[in-house]
Parts: sequence; structure tokens; C-alpha cells
Amino acid sequence: MSFLQLRVSRCAATIMALAISLAPFTTALAQQKQGRESAQAPSITSTLSSILSLGSNVLTPAARTVQSDPYYQFRNQRYTNEGLISERDEIALGNQLHVEIAKKYRMTNEGQTRANAIGQRVARASQRANIPYRFHVVQSNDINAFSIPGGHIYITSGLMRLANDDELASVLSHEVGHVVARHSLKTLQASQFLNGIADLLGSIAGIAGDDAGQLGTAAARIVASGVLATHNREEEREADFLGVRAMPRAGFKSDGMITMFQKLLRISETNHDLLGSLFNDHPDVEERILNTRYEVNRMNNQTRTRGRR
Ligand SMILES: [Zn+2]
Repeated sequence: MSFLQLRVSRCAATIMALAISLAPFTTALAQQKQGRESAQAPSITSTLSSILSLGSNVLTPAARTVQSDPYYQFRNQRYTNEGLISERDEIALGNQLHVEIAKKYRMTNEGQTRANAIGQRVARASQRANIPYRFHVVQSNDINAFSIPGGHIYITSGLMRLANDDELASVLSHEVGHVVARHSLKTLQASQFLNGIADLLGSIAGIAGDDAGQLGTAAARIVASGVLATHNREEEREADFLGVRAMPRAGFKSDGMITMFQKLLRISETNHDLLGSLFNDHPDVEERILNTRYEVNRMNNQTRTRGRR
């Protein structure tokens, strides 16, 4: 689908959704006013109401798709560095941020081979397989994972112990999804953190002395700000979508994402303190389970349909 088509259909979808949500309200309003305005025909309300109901009759199938598909806005998305710093600069920035993260958190070799083997598989199956990915295990009992621009991804040893291979793949694939969609990079760019850094990154090949020091200081400031650990609900939903889609392509069972969420749900009920930023401010875990189940079923149906042909 072209960009223009996508925009038109999205816009139409929004209007449809609006029409649907307004319809009950205007109907109630029309009923309320019926007694008073029955003499003045046709009233504005009833005209509006009939336009909306006509709209909803005509548009219901599409609107139903929009409402039932939690990921409709992410389908057919293409991701690039357009409007952002270049991919080369993003990777250089990521390497610099990693130096600072490695100072702040204790990295461990425990489970590192496993994290890397599984992580590389989901990264190769992602929509951004062209950049190098590095998977790091952070020594911590917290249940957490996060990623930074440029392909460095972190997971705690606590989460590694909790997850079987399919579940671990789901977490790493979700984090790769953030890298694919350039979420943290967009956040950094919007927060003005990258002002002035682009020049430093541009000369990174021959970087020395003052420039290297300045870049280090800037990276340290970014890591300390905590801005890399926050994603909005929409970004989480998108990373879930990109993550679960890549799982079967990488040879993992996609319902590993569902059982991972179920484990997290149990932990959130008993020991919430262990859950780090991976699950704070995210859509409700229940909602994520429902959304993921929707996508797993959809992928299974597509596979079955293909198999019958
Ligand atoms: Zn996330």
C-alpha cells in the first residue's frame, strides 16, 4: 500500500470510528429532544443523527475491522531514518550510550550466550535486519528489559531465569521492535537531547580529544535522564506487534509472548516491585494478552489459508 493510500484509509477509519462512537450519543440526544422539537421538522439533531446512522450503516464493516484489529495502524508500515539522524550516526550514538550504560549497570556473562543466540534470530527476522545487534545481560533480580538506539538490547538475569526460550524470544523481539520503529531515537530527537550531537557524531571516525569527551558527556546525560526507559502506550503496542510478527519467522512459537505476559501478570499480583520499566506505564497486561492472542490467531489462520492453496 502506498503512503497516500494508507493516509486516506486511516483518515477514513478515524471518521468512521468517530461516527460510530457519536451515534449512540446523538440518538439519545434526539430521543431526549423529541418531545420538544417534534413540531419543528426536521431538527438539526435528527438530521445529524440520520447522517451519522447512514454513515455507520454504510461504513460498519470497515469500522468493525478498525475497532477489532488492535494493530491496524501498524500494518504495512515501513521504517527508515528519514527525518532523524542517519543510521550510521544512530549506531555510533548507540555505542556511546552503551559505554555509559555499562558504567551504570553490572553486566554479566550469565545467560549471555543464550540471550545472544535467541536475540540474533529474532533480530534477523525483524524489519531491520541490516544493522548489528548486541544483547547484554544485566545482573539483577528485577524483571526488566530495554533497548537503546542503534541495536544494543539489555535484559536482566531475573527475567532470563523466568522465561523459557519462546518467552525470551518474545521479550527480545519486542525490544528489537522498538529499535525497528526508532522509538527511543524519536524520543531523543523530540527532547532536544540530540542538539549539537549530530556534528560530533558526523566526525566520529576521526574523533579525538575534546569532541570524544563532549560526546561522552552528552551520552552520560541522556542515560542519567531516564528518557531511554520510557515509551508511550502506542509505542508499546507497536513493539508488541512487530515483536510477535517476527517470532514465527525466527522459528519461535508466537504464543510464547502470551505465556510471558501471563507470567508477568502473576508476578504483578504478588511481587510488583520486581517489575521494572518494561511493564510500567504500559497498556494493561490483560489488554496486551488479548491483543497478542488476536495476532497469534491471525497469523495461524494465514498459515492455514496458505497451506490449503
Ligand atoms: Zn517496550
